[in-house]
Amino acid sequence: KRAKATGRIEAYQNHVFTIARARFGMETALRRAIEDERLRLAYQPICDLTTGAITSFEALARWRDEDGRDHPPTDFIPVAEESGLIVPLGRWAMDEAARTLARWDRVAGGDCGVRVAVNLSAIQLQRDAVVPLVERTLAAHGLSGDRLTLELTESALVSDPDHIAGVMHALRDMGARLAMDDFGTGYSNLAYLQQLPIDVLKIDRSFVTHMLADRDKVAIVRAILGLAHALGMATTAEGVETVELSQTLAALGCVYGQGYLYARPLEADAALAMLRG
Ligand code: C2E
Ligand code: CA
Ligand code: CA
Ligand code: CA
Repeated sequence: KRAKATGRIEAYQNHVFTIARARFGMETALRRAIEDERLRLAYQPICDLTTGAITSFEALARWRDEDGRDHPPTDFIPVAEESGLIVPLGRWAMDEAARTLARWDRVAGGDCGVRVAVNLSAIQLQRDAVVPLVERTLAAHGLSGDRLTLELTESALVSDPDHIAGVMHALRDMGARLAMDDFGTGYSNLAYLQQLPIDVLKIDRSFVTHMLADRDKVAIVRAILGLAHALGMATTAEGVETVELSQTLAALGCVYGQGYLYARPLEADAALAMLRG
């Protein structure tokens, strides 16, 4: 009996070891990918639900490793956050997104008419000097702050709310828009909504995509829209996959939508073509 238990413990230890090794392998490969600038950004349009006009593009990280394998960000962003690599990754993403927007402006011969939205990890907000980073990035690419949206998750607000509030006010003072990402999935204390300079609530895809078949989801989406409206914030629904969904959301008072109905995340050139289309 004891031999059997020992065997099970060994199997478990081997299992843990295998996971740790896989994580460490991914961390090492990701570190190299950042250094060798092998990450890419894909750009997904965010559209006015009523007119379909593109208002901005969200920049989403993409990683194809040396073996040609694509790793989804839901795998490598957590590894980047645990290892601290999110700081260089986040800096790179900010710079690359700004560089792309500046290029689109040049092609358009002026303001190309859209913003770019960059994801800011809670870990990066705690560890990096995000305000000077944004200032430097905008200056380096000749962009004004109002061309940038920063997407934060509620987890950013948990650990040092006073510090984060200061950062958010400084970013807002530079003209950047602030969006609360994945709204409704993170945090139960809503008091922060009154205190922080938030422009947009992004309603998480988990409430949106299948809401037409689920009255509870409709109730949650309605409640979020009511809250945003009362607080003077705009709303973006994620995961808009059908025309019917876009129409229902617009009828409920949601302003913007993002999802496969409009486009999947696109390479920069394809995004520009869509913008000019
Ligand atoms: P997110 O910020 O919520 O980004 C939206 C995700 O939903 C993207 O997944 C996008 O491809 C996906 N999506 C958009 N429309 C639809 C749709 O209609 N249907 C479905 N099923 N999915 C849709 P993606 O690109 O895999 O990114 C996953 C997450 O990884 C992001 O979620 C974000 O949290 C994180 N992430 C990606 N890039 C970055 C980055 O540069 N920095 C940070 N900190 N996080 C990032
Ligand atoms: Ca986002
Ligand atoms: Ca989101
Ligand atoms: Ca989401």
